[in-house]
Amino acid sequence: LTLSFKLASRQYAAVLLAALAGAAAAAFSVHAQSQSQLQPQPSAAQPPAPSTASSRLVFLDPAHGASDTGATLADHTQEKDVTLAIAVRLRNALTAAGFTVIATRDSDPSDPITTDQRAEAANRAHATACIVIHATNTGSGVHVYTSTLQPLYPQPNDPAYPAAFVPTPWDTAQAAFVSRSQTLATAFASGLANAHLASLSGRAPLRPLDNLMCPAMAIELAPLSAPGGGATPVTDASYQQQVATALATSLSTWRVQLDSTSGNDSQAAAQRAITAAEAAARAVARARAAASASAAQPATRKAAQ
Ligand SMILES: [Zn+2]
Repeated sequence: LTLSFKLASRQYAAVLLAALAGAAAAAFSVHAQSQSQLQPQPSAAQPPAPSTASSRLVFLDPAHGASDTGATLADHTQEKDVTLAIAVRLRNALTAAGFTVIATRDSDPSDPITTDQRAEAANRAHATACIVIHATNTGSGVHVYTSTLQPLYPQPNDPAYPAAFVPTPWDTAQAAFVSRSQTLATAFASGLANAHLASLSGRAPLRPLDNLMCPAMAIELAPLSAPGGGATPVTDASYQQQVATALATSLSTWRVQLDSTSGNDSQAAAQRAITAAEAAARAVARARAAASASAAQPATRKAAQ
């Protein structure tokens, strides 16, 4: 009875831990318990609480730079300068919305940055979202692209969704995140619509999208056509600012939705922790029974079995 009571309270601790720290932490906790139950210790080692910073971290990748100038846009402006200007506005809007922002560049670099280097920087950041920024003279409004890779997890709240970063083939690293990337792109498209900005959503084999281990999309700013003719160029500060504000609002909305579905993930993780704790409890009970049986008289041992 004492044993089962202890186990029940420890299961509860495991559930709390799972809810707080996810399945990986719970597995660690259950492992620690199965050792501590045989020889009670003052307190089992607790895994460090997961940092919540990454859940508000956005990675920006203003495309091009240095000798890689990109397209020539309105007023002979180079694309590399426009993507940087948009990134600066995005950084400010996202920071104001409570996000932390990391970018591949905050100025024009001396050497071009390769797509692999951009993906490496993004994947090191463990960001909640990664946004690649381009600009063009072709088309109209904001083009929003996600990867063409088939989603590894069809549902953005799939319980099997990796709780931690796992080794992944470089060329298809985005596959595990595609469903979340699509919900991000959808949230952004509706954010643009709410701001009365035209957008076009699609999927494109655009590097480094496929290499990114985060919900990711590429945005490409195109001139904004007006109903009566004429168009707002991508260099227009007000247009850039409206897009930046819409994106920050969309990311906040999307993040809240993701957090609420992550609640389902936590429940699933908690259930897995209970199952694991019950298995550990049965193992402990067997070990105790075996230990007391071996210490007892042969007749008693027979009765115990
Ligand atoms: Zn470009």
